[in-house]
Amino acid sequence: MAKDKNYQKLIHTSRWLRLRKEVLTAHPLCQRCLAEGRTTAATEVHHVKPVEEALSQRERVQRMYDTHNTQALCHDCHVKVHTELGRCGRQANKERKAKQAREFNHRFFGDDVTQ
Ligand SMILES: [Zn+2]
Repeated sequence: MAKDKNYQKLIHTSRWLRLRKEVLTAHPLCQRCLAEGRTTAATEVHHVKPVEEALSQRERVQRMYDTHNTQALCHDCHVKVHTELGRCGRQANKERKAKQAREFNHRFFGDDVTQ
């Protein structure tokens, strides 16, 4: 969960603290636990689309303060969600891009050059 400076700035605003409180008031129980039939108090607010991965500052701000992009979670689920994101999200993305680049290089600078 590497958070950069911009993200730190956004998460320390009163606007975020207010929104966070609203989300937790609207969803006092962890939404993920609830979906699995458990009732656990939500203590943290998760961003479904990762704020730090937005391409522009404008998009970051949008994601940060979009209630539709938030989920009330307990601490355990929040950690789990980020572990999963690391495995199937960002990391998988990176690997896919690297593979695409390799294929591209192979096709255009590999075989074609030697033929
Ligand atoms: Zn939970």
